[in-house]
Amino acid sequence: AQSVQFQNVGKSYGSVNAVSGINISIEPGQFVTLLGPSGCGKSTTLNMIAGLEMPTEGRIIIGDRDVTTVKPADRDIAMVFQSYALYPHMTLFENIAFPMRARRRRTQESEVERKVRTAAKMLGLESMLGRYPREISGGQRQRVALGRAMVRTPTVYLLDEPLSNLDQQLRVQMRSELKDIHQRLGATMLYVTHDQSEAMTLSDLVVVMSNGRIEQAGSPEELYNNP
Ligand code: ADP
Ligand code: ADP
Repeated sequence: AQSVQFQNVGKSYGSVNAVSGINISIEPGQFVTLLGPSGCGKSTTLNMIAGLEMPTEGRIIIGDRDVTTVKPADRDIAMVFQSYALYPHMTLFENIAFPMRARRRRTQESEVERKVRTAAKMLGLESMLGRYPREISGGQRQRVALGRAMVRTPTVYLLDEPLSNLDQQLRVQMRSELKDIHQRLGATMLYVTHDQSEAMTLSDLVVVMSNGRIEQAGSPEELYNNP
């Protein structure tokens, strides 16, 4: 797990400031949530870590590297989205293995096998690796998307509203699974949501955003006591 530091980060599109003055300090292994309404700049903040967007100001430091100077493919980041876009013609095994297959450096087949099975075990998907996405439930599909991120053994996980396509009951169930997975992996995770109760149950640190700025940041207890 790695630390992540935002140092006065800003991003503008022409005259539109998507985010500005972002300072966040994340310790290795922390679960941090960016919370706020649609359009407040959560995805932009996350996308800049992955390299999907370049900041127009400031620095983002992962471990001891300024990643804004590092190619996206070399950042060791895995991202999970709301629309998890599994490949319908591939089995769950192949869907999870995909990032390893897509690498320039070939991963040995025994290593692919080991990593897919380890992830599947943690996600409760072991018995269904031969199935196709259409043969499993929404919650299981979301777990496959997580598995696909896990086999990359990233230094940081970025999760952009990963549960928002699920029904309420499943969301609540997946929350506790996610918390469990976070603890077992000991990984640094950044999570984006507009759901306050999700942020409060999952996080070590909640960063509340509004109009492209950080409005408040603290542990769930701190925010609960100083609303
Ligand atoms: P959130 O994830 O909180 O919904 P976003 O980060 O997607 O918010 O968007 C933050 C702001 O930046 C919004 O005002 C949005 O319209 C603007 N924005 C995002 N992407 C672009 C873009 N490619 N071009 C212009 N404006 C953008
Ligand atoms: P390589 O070994 O060629 O660097 P990678 O598997 O590291 O290949 O990644 C290939 C490209 O796909 C990179 O740009 C990487 O950022 C992107 N990519 C693949 N899977 C993901 C994912 N789950 N989240 C974010 N980016 C991803």
